[in-house]
Amino acid sequence: MNISTYTVKPKLPNSLKPLEEIARNLWLSWNFDAVELFIRLDYDVWLSSHQSPVRTLGMVSQERLVEVAKDDSYIARLNEVYTRFLKYKKGETWYRGSRKDVVAYFSMEYGMDVSLPIYSGGLGILSGDHMKTSSDMGLPLVGVGFLYRQGYFKQLLNADGYQQESYPENDWYNMPVELKTGKNNEPVKITVDLAGRQATAQVWEVKVGRSSLFLLDTNIPENAPDIRNITATLYGGDKETRMQQEILLGIGGIRALRALGVNPAATHMNEGHAAFLGLERVRELMSERHFNFDEAREAVWPTNIFTTHTPVPAGNERFDIGLMEKYFRSWPQILGISWKDFLSLGRERPYDDSETFCMTVLAIKFAAYANGVAALHGVVSRKMWQNLWPGLPLNEIPIDHVTNGVHPRTWVSSNMVELLDRYFGPHFEEEPTDLSVWNRMDRISDEELWRTHERRRERLVAFARERIRDNLKRNGAVERRIAQAEDALSPYTLTLAFARRFATYKRGNLLLRDPERLLKLLKDTERPIQLIFAGKAHPMDMPGKELIRSIIHFAEQHDVTSRIIFLENYDISMAHYLTSGADVWLNTPRRPMEASGTSGMKAAMNGVLNCSILDGWWDEAYNPEVGWAIGRGEEYEDTNLQDEIESKALYDLLEREVIPLFYQRGRDGLPREWIRRMKTCMKQIGQSMSSHRMLMDYSNKFYFPALKNYRRIVKDDYAEPKALAAYMGKLRQAWDSIKIQKIESNAKPIMQRGDSLTVTARVELGALSPDEVLVELYHGSASNHGDGIENANRAEMRSVGQEGNVVVYQVRIECADTGLQGHTVRILPKHPALVHPYRTGFIKWA
Ligand SMILES: *Cc1c(COP(=O)(O)O)cnc(C)c1O
Repeated sequence: MNISTYTVKPKLPNSLKPLEEIARNLWLSWNFDAVELFIRLDYDVWLSSHQSPVRTLGMVSQERLVEVAKDDSYIARLNEVYTRFLKYKKGETWYRGSRKDVVAYFSMEYGMDVSLPIYSGGLGILSGDHMKTSSDMGLPLVGVGFLYRQGYFKQLLNADGYQQESYPENDWYNMPVELKTGKNNEPVKITVDLAGRQATAQVWEVKVGRSSLFLLDTNIPENAPDIRNITATLYGGDKETRMQQEILLGIGGIRALRALGVNPAATHMNEGHAAFLGLERVRELMSERHFNFDEAREAVWPTNIFTTHTPVPAGNERFDIGLMEKYFRSWPQILGISWKDFLSLGRERPYDDSETFCMTVLAIKFAAYANGVAALHGVVSRKMWQNLWPGLPLNEIPIDHVTNGVHPRTWVSSNMVELLDRYFGPHFEEEPTDLSVWNRMDRISDEELWRTHERRRERLVAFARERIRDNLKRNGAVERRIAQAEDALSPYTLTLAFARRFATYKRGNLLLRDPERLLKLLKDTERPIQLIFAGKAHPMDMPGKELIRSIIHFAEQHDVTSRIIFLENYDISMAHYLTSGADVWLNTPRRPMEASGTSGMKAAMNGVLNCSILDGWWDEAYNPEVGWAIGRGEEYEDTNLQDEIESKALYDLLEREVIPLFYQRGRDGLPREWIRRMKTCMKQIGQSMSSHRMLMDYSNKFYFPALKNYRRIVKDDYAEPKALAAYMGKLRQAWDSIKIQKIESNAKPIMQRGDSLTVTARVELGALSPDEVLVELYHGSASNHGDGIENANRAEMRSVGQEGNVVVYQVRIECADTGLQGHTVRILPKHPALVHPYRTGFIKWA
């Protein structure tokens, strides 16, 4: 069949024209009054469009459009919202610098709105909030990702509570995306080589406020069927599909930006999936500027940022060498290096042939800036990748952290935003980087805050009942059972929510461990609790699916189906209801396996109190004024023992603290003490976990330095990276012959605080000159009877003379700390163009 296709757009009356522009910008995903405009058009259509503004516009009848166009109050509201939208796009922003050079942000998924299902969970939501916040702050940043034909799966639970998956097709002609076209209105296309075959992708643009997100799509007729399927599903397919996706993301992503005329001066790899972009950026410089591999690498490294999200070694993506060989056999020749050297780029032990190719390692080796996503995760990451820097002390491993954040106006419920706007003033919306407005929480009256929260709990209960009814109907339940759904949950009961991916380490069933104890809490007639669970298990994760089923069975067996609810198909829309309508947000991962977590931050900003293991972000945010900690941050070898201890701790907390506090009401019915915590929680977490704090961190720590590096690098025909490559080459040659001959000092066995100490070191430098190395005195408290140094300080030593081929370095320090002190000397690389001296393999100790 030969089918010609064309797109039909709604015919909007003039006064409704702005709707089209509003529908096609994800600005509306954090502006509920914009969404309301579409709901008001036709509520039934809105529901059947799956809450998609673009589709709603296409589905509403022409008569209705004509009718609305004559409705004064609607038009007034529309104009109000549109004016705000235009003001947002033109307004002053935090960033006011040049927009010529951009940071390109790469992620496999983006979770911004239910109407654009190209995300699976936390990583996607984070990328989505990153884009929204970047728009708020006016950062010169573009996103790169995929437009999936199906996206992530939809979760359906059968009558037995077993998870099944369906993959609905996305219809992007009814989504807020636009095909990018170039000359002659032809789609912009790029190609990548996949084991000798050409894969072509077109590019779609999503407007996120002021920012742009570009999505690659291989589902076009000129591709073979398997290539069309590369962008079919998120995290679907096999290892080879993943390889193809990552080649397309990293290599294709850079090419797409070039084709669009965007210069990715700096690149940010959100997780290792995009790490191949380092290779492509090197290839570009080699082919366009005739650099050698080392020179090109020195030009890319200082402008590349990598964020890791994986706290467990097994979670880091690795490819078999066979697969690498199939897809990258031509690359060593392109890069002018050997196959072994090529593989070493993705290996912890560079020349160990038994090691597979790790995307995290590749990312780290090509990025001067690397970070974990919470303070604790930074510690875990430094430990996990320590072997990449043999000889470097753990605390100096150059992996920093930027704790995740969430976009407040996306995640604080519309009811609560309305309240906050009233008390915080216009500042809250117009200057989102001014986090101090959250201090005004104290001004809000207890009654108003509580009433707003109770309203959200009612909404959650109503939403849950509807979902349960739909599920029962679909599974063919009898009428009586469906009618029972009306009684599920109570809008006045203390509500605990557990919503997250069902992976066993998150322990969704920890609270079910002692059924008697839990049932007592559920069935208490005066101070009951109720539990809402939600979350998907990975389609291949049988234990995860079993966990879901066990919760549903537990409720049925013990006849508490109105008190324990499992809601199917956790997504952004459900997350909104849960994180604003629950009273307590429960999180029970095995420490330290949760990199950060963000749902608890969303909850906290809505005044929902966290009760969580001290893991991820909660490890740094917790204090007794804002919520509860299960345990004290212990780590266990014996998981059974851990579950036993931590479930007991959780029951204890609920029985002794959480439940009494919630039901401790004054004569006015208000839980004053609980409300006080809500306020403190919103005030503190609103400031510390706002995505604007996160992006200010990324900007100040990484983006601005990387963009500055870029401007320096391109100067004088890339003089700097060339010099740096020459220096690193010289260093590599000379490194083995560098020797610290002798260290002397004027230290006496007993010194007094304040005494000065002069240390001299004699160093053989071979072909290097004295200012080409960083010679450091490394000093601090001597631990283990002089075996090591703790809380070390570093002091650069100056060359003070030369005796033959020996250079004398010296430094004077003051004895500041008491106790047994010690020092030693070490040598690191030193070059003005080096972002930091921690290059793998270059450190020498006395
Ligand atoms: C926020 C969010 C997540 C991530 O939350 P975690 O705390 O990491 O579990 C996952 N899925 C959805 C739909 C979310 O809104």
